[in-house]
Amino acid sequence: MQNTYSMTDETAPVPSVPAKPVHSIHVEDVLIWPNPVLKEHSIEVVEFNEELAAFCASLMLTMGVNRGYGISAVQIGNLRRIMVCMVDQKPELMINPVINEKSDEKETNWEGCLSVPGYHVLIARPKNVVVTYRNMKNEEVVLNTKTLNRDSNHLTPACIQHEIDHMDGVMFTDGLSELKRNMARTKVKKYLRNKRHAENQ
Ligand SMILES: [Zn+2]
Repeated sequence: MQNTYSMTDETAPVPSVPAKPVHSIHVEDVLIWPNPVLKEHSIEVVEFNEELAAFCASLMLTMGVNRGYGISAVQIGNLRRIMVCMVDQKPELMINPVINEKSDEKETNWEGCLSVPGYHVLIARPKNVVVTYRNMKNEEVVLNTKTLNRDSNHLTPACIQHEIDHMDGVMFTDGLSELKRNMARTKVKKYLRNKRHAENQ
C-alpha cells in the first residue's frame, strides 16, 4: 500500500502575523559632500504614520552613532523636511521646521557637518531664531532659542539654521572661496582615509 502524504499539517502552529507593518530602525549611511543629492530641495511631510516614526528613529540613531549635534533627512538620502538638533542636550526632532524670526544680532561659531567630516569653519549667523515645527504627534511646537540656557545650547540656534539650509539644498561650504572649498575637500578625503585605516587595524 502506498503512503499518502498530505501537503498540509493541520497540527502545525500557525505563525503569528503582525497586525501592522513593521518598519525597521537602523543606522543609515551619511551622504558625503559633494554628493549631488545634498543639493536637492526637501518637501513637506504630510503623513504622520508608523513609517515616519521608524524613519525618524533611524535618523536620530544615525546622528547618535556619528556623534552629531544635528542632522537632516537629506543627509541620509531622504528628501523630507525632517531634522534633529540637540536641545538641552537631548535630540529634538523637528518636522517641517520654519524659521519665523531671526535676531539682528549675529554670532560666529565653528560649524561642522556630518556630510563634511573632519572639517570645521567659522560661520556668522543670527544669534537667535524662533522656529515653528511639528513633533511626531503632528502637534505644533514653537521654540524661541532666546529662552534656552545659553551654556548648554550655545550651538542650537546655528544648528537649526544649518539643518534647515540642508532642506533647501544649501551647504555651509557654499559660501567658501574656491581655495577654502578645495581645502575642505582635501580634509574630508584625509579624514575618510584615516577612518578607513583605523577601521582596518
Ligand atoms: Zn550639515
